Amino acid sequence: MPYDIVTIPCLSDNYAYLLRDQDTQEVAVIDVPEAAPILKALEENDWTLSQIWLTHHHPDHIDGVADLLEEYAAKVFGAQADAHRLPPLDQALAEGDAFNLGNYEVQIIDVPGHTVGHIAFHVPEAKLVFTADSLMALGCGRLFEGTPAQMWESLQKLAALPDDTLICSGHEYTASNAKFALTIDPQNAVLISRSAAIDAARQKGEATVPSLLSLEMQTNPFLRPADPGIRANLGMPDATDTEVFTEIRARKDAF
Ligand code: ZN
Ligand code: FE
Repeated sequence: MPYDIVTIPCLSDNYAYLLRDQDTQEVAVIDVPEAAPILKALEENDWTLSQIWLTHHHPDHIDGVADLLEEYAAKVFGAQADAHRLPPLDQALAEGDAFNLGNYEVQIIDVPGHTVGHIAFHVPEAKLVFTADSLMALGCGRLFEGTPAQMWESLQKLAALPDDTLICSGHEYTASNAKFALTIDPQNAVLISRSAAIDAARQKGEATVPSLLSLEMQTNPFLRPADPGIRANLGMPDATDTEVFTEIRARKDAF
């Protein structure tokens, strides 16, 4: 099944995405930091918005929803757990729920940690997952509400998806994430070359997202608490993965 995906820079460092099923021409937007750049992309492509998917309640992911709804009669999808602090939802979702964008089934994965109600939208046939501020390129979201153990559990669910899944995350934080990753995983040759590619992309003003899960598995320190090299660098050879993850998250917060 063919689809189109468009990455739209919003605000200072956010990303929204447009996903379109070419067969039915239904279009979803994933997160709405602001309306203007999304309306512009829809108009340029001559697409009609049918769905709005919200990953979590933070203003930089929902603030443009009302303005989009003035232009398009789109249905709004978001977490049941956060229905009280999201824009009005047409469909309230929890782990294991599914709906369709055209011919594509969309599956909901609960990924608490950044916020307790954060969800991810997985589109298995398209090999896409929209993770916003849970799993990010070379990073993961800050723990505003959840515990490190919760975030580690969330990341493990995403890590279990097929290796060739494209991770569509919510911010352009990759260059600073790479600098941090190199402090605890400096011998990782794949990370070193990815970091150079990120710097080159940013110098050209290019987005560093989406990214492939297989590359995240090899380079994202938040997916690698079991790695012997990282453990040696942290002086935690015998700790649990959760303990190592917690230490990595704490070091990133202080970085
Ligand atoms: Zn957020
Ligand atoms: Fe955010």
